[in-house]
Amino acid sequence: MTFPFDNTWARLPEAFFRRVDPTPVRAPRLLQLNDDLAEQLRTDPEWLASDDGVAVLAGNRRADGAEPLAMVYAGHQFGSFVPQLGDGRAILLGEITDTAGVRRDVQLKGSGPTPFSRQGDGRSALGPVLREYLVSEAMAALGVPTTRSLAALATGEPVMREGPIPGGILVRVARSHIRVGTFEWFAARRDHENLKILADYTIRRLDPEAARSDRPYHALLEGVVRRQAELIAHWMQFGFIHGVMNTDNMAISGETIDYGPCAFMDGWHPEKVFSSIDHSGRYAFARQGSIGLWNLTRFAETLLPLLHESEERAIAEATEILESYPEQHTSALRRRLTAKIGLTPSESSWELVQQLLQIMADDQADFTLTFRHLPAALDSEQDSDADVLPFMRLFDSQDRIEQWLVRWRQQHADTDRSQAQDRMRRHNPVFIPRNHRIEQVIQAAYAGDLTPFRKLHGVLQRPYEQQPDCSEYEQAPQPHEIVRATFCGT
Ligand code: AMP
Ligand code: MG
Repeated sequence: MTFPFDNTWARLPEAFFRRVDPTPVRAPRLLQLNDDLAEQLRTDPEWLASDDGVAVLAGNRRADGAEPLAMVYAGHQFGSFVPQLGDGRAILLGEITDTAGVRRDVQLKGSGPTPFSRQGDGRSALGPVLREYLVSEAMAALGVPTTRSLAALATGEPVMREGPIPGGILVRVARSHIRVGTFEWFAARRDHENLKILADYTIRRLDPEAARSDRPYHALLEGVVRRQAELIAHWMQFGFIHGVMNTDNMAISGETIDYGPCAFMDGWHPEKVFSSIDHSGRYAFARQGSIGLWNLTRFAETLLPLLHESEERAIAEATEILESYPEQHTSALRRRLTAKIGLTPSESSWELVQQLLQIMADDQADFTLTFRHLPAALDSEQDSDADVLPFMRLFDSQDRIEQWLVRWRQQHADTDRSQAQDRMRRHNPVFIPRNHRIEQVIQAAYAGDLTPFRKLHGVLQRPYEQQPDCSEYEQAPQPHEIVRATFCGT
């Protein structure tokens, strides 16, 4: 048995990748397998869980049809261009057309050195593997476009970081791993021939609409702009901070990719930063929208030779497309955030959102709990009622939030109350992967106990449902549990 591979990246010119086999590990152990995703990939989960399947997932045996390779890419990291990055800690095994007819990459992350490995490492610690598994699957359950996790493994080998810690491998599935940085690789080398091959491949694979257009490269840029405008608003709906929005971590598919120092906010503040390496706050929560445009501008620059033979015309046409981004992103954000308070976008509903966010920021109110407890406050005019208390308790300044509730209820005066509450509940999850829970899961896993991982993962599969047995997972961290910084997966 094997994966039903049908590879296309490996058919591209040699300049697109380096062939490299995963490096076997000593004692691989399957910690988590995503059965549903395996079935979508037309692969038997029982085989994947067998010794033979685990050997494939660990990189100890090459599956039939696999053509392991490291993809090339460059990228702007914290604003500076790095001409050579590439898969340094990941190896693409191959592609599978899933049950919905969508081509998906299957990639091992942490499976040993490649020609692009920083310091020849190529390994991953177990903590970041479990973290990416949990967060990516939570994002999928929330409805956010994302790469998926097929399996998490322990390697039975230590990796050297500050000291030795247990190693892990994540088996990641993506609509494709083509990044803005993939285009930058060829653009930086002025390799227009391969740039065109890449753009044509991308259009065929990711953008059938662009393929039918009479200006396919313009349509490609438009599609990428549209998907990022929406994706970043979608993150912000849940208080998600990606943490390292370098251009090599922006997927052309519009999926969230590369969960490193990411975090869901507890106490709300627009300038919040978690990443331990983001000293300037470049990737702070509220900057994500404009960073999206900065990255898309780098993408557009790579496409100039394909947009028009006159560079001047190409720049004018790319600029026009990029100029559509702020409006697209803002309207996506308004639609999503006004829905969180049960309303549709308008001047007055957006003003209410802004006012609420200001009060939340001043009081450091928990982002998820605020919106999760808001619907109940529509039923009652009495802010001292039991069902409004969980909401009121999140704020220091009771007067201010009471006045806000009055204005909010006024805007709901002519709307159907239960419809509004439904809208809120569809946009406001009960459960998010809270940083302190992820930390606890990782610490327990290092101590050999995977029960907390499994329990948290189970809860996050149904984020919009109340799960009375699991209410402790709703709670914000206690002061001593607050996680203030998150780290890259290296
Ligand atoms: P990232 O910060 O994870 O997006 O990675 C940036 C670059 O560093 C990419 O080229 C990665 O492949 C490479 N890299 C990250 N972690 C490792 C590692 N543990 N070993 C080798 N290369 C790595
Ligand atoms: Mg990356």
